[in-house]
Amino acid sequence: MGTGARLIETIGERRLIVAIGVVFLVAAAIRGYVRIASGTAPTSALFVSVFISIPALILLYGGYRLREMDIHPDFHSTVATWTTGGVLAMVGFLAVYNVVVEGGISNPDRAFTILPAFSALAGFALGLRDAQIKTSKREIDTTVEQLRMSNERLEQFAYAASHDLQEPLRMVSSYLQLLERRADDELTDETREFLAYAVDGADRMRAMVDGLLVYSRIDTEGKPFETVALEDVVERAVDDLGVLIEECDAEITVGDLPQVEGDEMQLHRLVQNLLQNALEYTDDDPRVRVTAERNGDTWILSVQDNGIGIDPANQDDIFEVFKRLHTREEYPGTGIGLALCQRIAERHGGEIWVDSEPGKGSTFSVSLPVERASQPSPKRRGGPSVSSRR
Ligand code: ADP
Repeated sequence: MGTGARLIETIGERRLIVAIGVVFLVAAAIRGYVRIASGTAPTSALFVSVFISIPALILLYGGYRLREMDIHPDFHSTVATWTTGGVLAMVGFLAVYNVVVEGGISNPDRAFTILPAFSALAGFALGLRDAQIKTSKREIDTTVEQLRMSNERLEQFAYAASHDLQEPLRMVSSYLQLLERRADDELTDETREFLAYAVDGADRMRAMVDGLLVYSRIDTEGKPFETVALEDVVERAVDDLGVLIEECDAEITVGDLPQVEGDEMQLHRLVQNLLQNALEYTDDDPRVRVTAERNGDTWILSVQDNGIGIDPANQDDIFEVFKRLHTREEYPGTGIGLALCQRIAERHGGEIWVDSEPGKGSTFSVSLPVERASQPSPKRRGGPSVSSRR
């Protein structure tokens, strides 16, 4: 700790500022008295004294009110340091100027009262500004830290809840199935129907819990980012959805896709969810287009379909966990797919959004960071690269 800092700590920041004000006030009074006593016209002597008293009084008041200002107490020392610095810098400068340039201090009361008093005030004002900036920064840092911790706690809660629910749910569903098999002869049509509902409910709940578990692990269990070829990711997702694509006789067209910086497994999950939705929410003859477009430091990956579309009023809600716009009878699903996509996009520093018109189809777009060794253009040029009707 420097001498200045030790001095400030010993005296106390506010007291030091008040003390500087008092010193200049006393100096102003003494100067006025001495001048009048030595024959200077009282008006002129008093004018200068009042002039010095103005910054002195502001410092007195400012030091006294410092605690009520929107400045964190840790930064009161910043204000005191700037104020003291203001005085010392001016006194030092004037001393050097008078000795070196003038050859001696000809008018010490003027040199060491008027200018240092205003310089202390300037230091005080700058100190206040600096302390306010530091206070705001501290507040932002604290809020960010609180948000991070609350987010972490939520993630831990979601993980624990979904993880611990898996086991009892598995038991419920296995025993229900066992009952269905073993007691089949004794069951009436009605009880068989009830059991089927119970098994279906347990299965659905398991799917939701599994989804929640994956959701809660996106940040904690994500892999470090590496260069990922989106073309391979899409190809694998199309392969994985082979049966569904065949079932609905869909056409998937894939344009030129770039390399991005990311977690390959998570990007695969994201693309697969978007493709699966595009197929499931298109009633007839699904035609899906996967394209990418560069926008500054990001690639915008888009999955476009000719499906049922989404009402503009619901276009934000669908990214919420378990939010669905249809009953299970209309379209099956758990409502976690897009929430997962959003978490994955956010982990990649990107966003996901949808442009859609009911009855005309939807385009889901995701922004992803360009690969580190920034490719200026997509890997391959030309028309659509894969066009498959399976
Ligand atoms: P799920 O598909 O399991 O219901 P998602 O989170 O993937 O869950 O989707 C949430 C809702 O968003 C869906 O229930 C559906 O109403 C709507 N949706 C998602 N993708 C599309 C799409 N391509 N076209 C129309 N609606 C969609």
